[in-house]
Amino acid sequence: MTVGEVVLIVEDNDKNLKLARDLLQFAGFRTLEATSAEDGIAVAQRERPALVLMDIQLPRMDGIAALRALRGDGRTASIPVVALTASVMKSDRERFDAAGFDGFMQKPIDVKTFAADVRGFCARGRAA
Ligand code: MN
Repeated sequence: MTVGEVVLIVEDNDKNLKLARDLLQFAGFRTLEATSAEDGIAVAQRERPALVLMDIQLPRMDGIAALRALRGDGRTASIPVVALTASVMKSDRERFDAAGFDGFMQKPIDVKTFAADVRGFCARGRAA
């Protein structure tokens, strides 16, 4: 990976946000953080991160609506966005696929594989 690749974490749960940030920074990523969809969109437009990790359940605007906003904006349309979700239901995963996420990652975060998985999503870019 590019050294210091920038990953934006959009997550309203403080504990999850800190864990994701710590794991990514330890692995050499730079991180940006937002605790709402609205802030996440603004940060993505301004900073153009290599990847966005998007929680689904967020206050007011959810992660699926945030994805639509990112894809609808020329500044952020090409940034890969991965859903960060506690849902294990197949129907939910199909909903994330249909919404256009480039992948999903399971919560609770697996500390052993998280950074490597993020690196893989960075390398892959936008799903075909
Ligand atoms: Mn949440």
